[in-house]
Amino acid sequence: MRSSVPASTDWRVHKFGGTSLATPARIRHVADLLGDRDRPLAVVVSAVSGVTDRLLALAENAHTDPDGLSDRLQSLRDDQRAMVSDLLDRDTAASVLDALDQDLDDLADVLRATHLMGTAPDTTRALVAGYGELWSTRLLGGVLRSRGLSAAVCDAREVLVVTHEKLGPVVDWDATRRQFANWRAARSEFDILVATGFIATTPDGVPTTLGRNGSDHSAALFASLLGAEALTIWTDTDGVMSADPRYVPDARRLDVLSYEEALEMAYFGAGVIHPRTLSPAIEHEIPITIRNTFAPDRPGTRIHLEDDGASVVKGFSTIDDVALLNLEGSGMIGVPGIARRLFDALEDEGVSVILISQGSSEHSICFAVPQAEAKVARKAAEQAFYAELDRGQLRTVELVPDCSILAVVGDRMTGTPGVAATFFGALGEASVNVRAIAQGSSERNISAVVDGDDAHRALRAVHAGFYLSKRTLSIGVLGAGNVGAALLDQIRTEADRLRDEQDIDLRVRGIATSSRMLRAEQRLDLGTWRDDLAEGDAADLDAFVDHVQTDYHPHTAIVDCTASGAIARHYRGWLERGIHVVTPNKKANTGAWDAYQALQAASRGPGPQYRYETTVGAGLPILRTLNSLTETGDQVHRIEGILSGTLSYLFNAFDGERPFSAILRQARDEGFTEPDPRDDLSGMDVARKVVILAREMGVSLGLDEVSVDGLVPGPLRDGSVPSFLDRLPEHDADMTKLLRDARANDKVLRFVGSVTRDGDASVRLRRYPVDHAFARINHTDNIVRFQTDRYADTPLIVQGPGAGPQVTAAGVFTDLLRLIS
Ligand code: ADP
Ligand code: ASP
Ligand code: MG
Repeated sequence: MRSSVPASTDWRVHKFGGTSLATPARIRHVADLLGDRDRPLAVVVSAVSGVTDRLLALAENAHTDPDGLSDRLQSLRDDQRAMVSDLLDRDTAASVLDALDQDLDDLADVLRATHLMGTAPDTTRALVAGYGELWSTRLLGGVLRSRGLSAAVCDAREVLVVTHEKLGPVVDWDATRRQFANWRAARSEFDILVATGFIATTPDGVPTTLGRNGSDHSAALFASLLGAEALTIWTDTDGVMSADPRYVPDARRLDVLSYEEALEMAYFGAGVIHPRTLSPAIEHEIPITIRNTFAPDRPGTRIHLEDDGASVVKGFSTIDDVALLNLEGSGMIGVPGIARRLFDALEDEGVSVILISQGSSEHSICFAVPQAEAKVARKAAEQAFYAELDRGQLRTVELVPDCSILAVVGDRMTGTPGVAATFFGALGEASVNVRAIAQGSSERNISAVVDGDDAHRALRAVHAGFYLSKRTLSIGVLGAGNVGAALLDQIRTEADRLRDEQDIDLRVRGIATSSRMLRAEQRLDLGTWRDDLAEGDAADLDAFVDHVQTDYHPHTAIVDCTASGAIARHYRGWLERGIHVVTPNKKANTGAWDAYQALQAASRGPGPQYRYETTVGAGLPILRTLNSLTETGDQVHRIEGILSGTLSYLFNAFDGERPFSAILRQARDEGFTEPDPRDDLSGMDVARKVVILAREMGVSLGLDEVSVDGLVPGPLRDGSVPSFLDRLPEHDADMTKLLRDARANDKVLRFVGSVTRDGDASVRLRRYPVDHAFARINHTDNIVRFQTDRYADTPLIVQGPGAGPQVTAAGVFTDLLRLIS
């Protein structure tokens, strides 16, 4: 469609920020987005990102470092030329390059003059800074033209007339409309208006700017000039997020904001919108949409008259680099006009006060100003209250530098109880020291002054306080073998249901093996982790744990699915830094008694927990049963059990028909044994479980104190696995004899571990009557008998499948859920 500028009221205005134009590919992408249009378009563009900074640095350094000047100019020239030749065909490029050369020559002259004058006045700075927008508009205009669109490039200095007032640039609308009419009159019809952001002119015709980040403001001015029906600001985030995503990885896109909410967020530093942008749009009720140039299919954030009522609290932001000034003293009590005198004095000095908070006792007034204005502000206050300070009615004017203001914004915070409680509760939990508090009279925001060093942590903490479930768990899984893999698959299957039904948000944010690790800021894709891990980074345990523990997740857990003693040695440190530890790894609980006790001490109380239910009996609630007995005051006298799924299976299958060695070989082939079956037959694994049970009873048993009669025949202890398997039949006769003897007495053979209150612990093959509970088990069942005061005549028995990755993983999963239930 070909539209002439006049008459149309259905203009749409688009603004592209510097990052959206940073490379030739991105500029082409922007042209693609604009090609798709059904009504008149105006496009306002920033300088290519970084160019304004470079230009300002040139102006800044022209008089101090004239030698570097020509190099810097040359590098700007090279970069611009490279973009031109990448984007434009020869004919179009020629005129753009001519204009560029002319600009750079002018720029060199201006900078030389600056050097001679020894200073760069504001007017010079404004002129120099504005070239970036001229260059980017010409580039985009050229690309659009080369696609057959008639694009009219507009140097906004020919149109926008502004004066600079205390609160920023003010548009002279009459002059601007007149200038725009002249500009249009001098042009024939066109499809797209491509205008420079940022720059404007004074009524005297002197080039000026709208201030840093001013292109958004330019876009809003063009929108109101054209009576546009919509303004779209394209940037590098999905819209206005609930907080700056650079500091809050968990920030979410806000769907809708009211103008007032957006103003408040902008005022409190949400860098994606600027307060001045909004005012022309608000006056004409032009809806603004913030969208992601790099994900144009996403809906973005709509800013218009009404909010959507979706949530009470919308966004969080910080203003950094502020100083807090505190006026304190009894001399202020009941004296009228103190605040007026103070703020008049500050106004006279041109200090902008960002936040005010007065104690209701009138004992103190506290206010925040930009750090750069702090000294002037203090001096102004001291002069205003010279007499009171002199008489001691006021103590000093205290200045606290390096603070930040943290604000929470939302239209309907008014009359919603609990918002302030959540806000300050979250700060308290994160141990953030709050120096001053202010609640806007609109109750559209609450703000707090905190130490600058704490600001981003505080931001994450309050964001989490409102947006994250209290039952959010940041999880790092170590070891991706059978159990680890099964656990990850189980979490994947259950995560959505847990979130929807129980508000439990399980976020696996890291997986590591001894060689590789995989990390994600939000959560890993558990559908593809196997492939992703293979491509992951080299493993680094400290970096991994640092990643998993953040200051914005209410809970962190490391799940150790390895069998490594080296990993187990980290548990205590992790617990001490507030990380829960969940593991099926027996190493930590069977090592030195002191270390075991230290671990128990570190996990006592309401803080981080250490859970290891699966170290005995895989998914069976064996330790839990034991704990509930002892916690309720029962005396446990003896625990006895079949604690190895493998050995359980071997003796269930050993019925005399087939030799023991054949059963073992088959079990190994079917994956029921360790790769070296001697690890099962030695009884050491059972002995470890006996130690864990004993310690859980309060008995300080060590592994070397367990009397173990293993099943590996002496001569076969050394040597390779194949030779062991080959030679085991030599001992079949002994085993068969044991079985025959037992049977002759109506007994069965079972491999059992046991421990008593006195620390009497053993692991060995025993005989049980055929009607004994241990005789009637199946397959790989584990079974444990607790003989206690309460269960004296009939012992308490826990029985069930006690081996296999699936049940073990399910047990680990249960432990994980218990952390946050
Ligand atoms: P452009 O180059 O498009 O003008 P800016 O850098 O000026 O972009 O603004 C976008 C940046 O603003 C984002 O990359 C983000 O880091 C920052 N930002 C700060 N607060 C917010 C917020 N609440 N939502 C989105 N972005 C924010
Ligand atoms: N290019 C200008 C700046 O960097 C204006 C803008 O990008 O909005 O401040
Ligand atoms: Mg910007």
